[in-house]
Amino acid sequence: MGNDANRIVIVGAGHAGGSAAAFLRQFGWTGGIALIGTETHLPYQRPPLSKGWLKGETKLAELELRPADFYKSNDIDVRLSTSVTAIDRAAQTVTLDKGEALGYSRLILATGSKLRALPVPGMDLAPILELRTIVDADKIRASLSPGCRLVIVGGGYVGLEVAASARALGAEVTVIEREMRLLARVASAALSDYVLAYHRGKGVAIELGASVAAIEGADGRVRGVRLADGRTFPADVVLVGIGATGQDALARAAGIACSDGVKVDAAARSSDPLIYAIGDCANRSMTTYWRDVRLESVPNAVEQAKQAAADICHKPVPLAEVPWFWSDQFEMRLQMAGLAFDVERTVVRGSPAEGKFAVFHLRHDGCVQAVEAVNMTPEYMGGRVMIGKRTVVDPVKLADMTIPIKQLMT
Ligand code: FAD
Repeated sequence: MGNDANRIVIVGAGHAGGSAAAFLRQFGWTGGIALIGTETHLPYQRPPLSKGWLKGETKLAELELRPADFYKSNDIDVRLSTSVTAIDRAAQTVTLDKGEALGYSRLILATGSKLRALPVPGMDLAPILELRTIVDADKIRASLSPGCRLVIVGGGYVGLEVAASARALGAEVTVIEREMRLLARVASAALSDYVLAYHRGKGVAIELGASVAAIEGADGRVRGVRLADGRTFPADVVLVGIGATGQDALARAAGIACSDGVKVDAAARSSDPLIYAIGDCANRSMTTYWRDVRLESVPNAVEQAKQAAADICHKPVPLAEVPWFWSDQFEMRLQMAGLAFDVERTVVRGSPAEGKFAVFHLRHDGCVQAVEAVNMTPEYMGGRVMIGKRTVVDPVKLADMTIPIKQLMT
């Protein structure tokens, strides 16, 4: 088992890469599998990093996708602390940072996404942190203490989740967001407004339309964050969370088609038929939305891992599911499904004042295109089914809480 002629090499031992290795065995792949990852940990889940892990409530074994035994008993050659530095498509090899060349019959790129850097003076001060890995999360936890002042640059999901966890740890938190609302790229205005009021109610200071000009400090230590309008917010710790781009450098260098991620089809195949790309690093065409999209979510990583493994093992490739996502902040559970493209109207069901509502996004023909639910799982589940079935709903009935959501799903 495991010679170059029938070896699958997976680059990136994260959620997508780890899942792909497992699906390959599940679907009957008997050849070699090499799973190569830069990090020192076995594949693990990132969502708890900003939530339970940061608060010290989650154990390592709960983070790991599978225990170490799984890889051993399934003959998966896991190489941690190892990076792939180049792909030679003609020779069907990848080069490892330790110099070795590893042959592949199929290559799966699962390299994730790359955090955007904040291009301002003062980034050499400490501690200026980011959050992608366990190591990053541990650094954040170690630098937070009751009363310490944390300034978070970026009001996206990760920034807001860290804000909530840091408040629970007793930190004073300020979120600086460049746009005029939180979650501007990924949520409706109704949800943004709710989240803003909710976080402020929990003692998080939030500045909108605020652009960072510099990080200020003395003796190498952070002292504050200065905005373009001249105001400075005192800080002991700074966290930068301003989004990410698809980690497609290897594929680009190898001449594979890329555009904010590796371009792939419905079976996760890239422009090279022997090379697949899955998870955060992949940019796929979603015919339901007539768009190419790059999603950053666990369900997306698992779905594409399954698609690639099925295709390699000559099994039917599962159709794309309705995209879904969740976020936990304080006691608030947000659940989203669908993508709000080409939306003509939104309908709010439930009560934002009571912290229990859902925003439904409808197309011009009344089809449900997306749903965002706050502490309202039945509405989220119902919305997800409606999106999948392309259900046309009456907006008046949808807003009427006396009509059960189930009744509107048919
Ligand atoms: P990753 O899990 O990032 O794995 C990529 C791996 O590839 C990394 O380990 C990287 O080191 C490695 N790598 C990169 N280049 C190379 C190379 N050249 N050689 C070898 N290895 C390489 N999603 C949700 O759905 N819900 C949530 O609540 C949620 N919360 C999140 C909270 C945080 C703090 C973060 C960071 C993410 C969160 N996400 C959430 C997103 C989700 O975790 C990602 O979408 C998912 O991990 C993507 O899986 P992936 O395998 O594509 O990438």
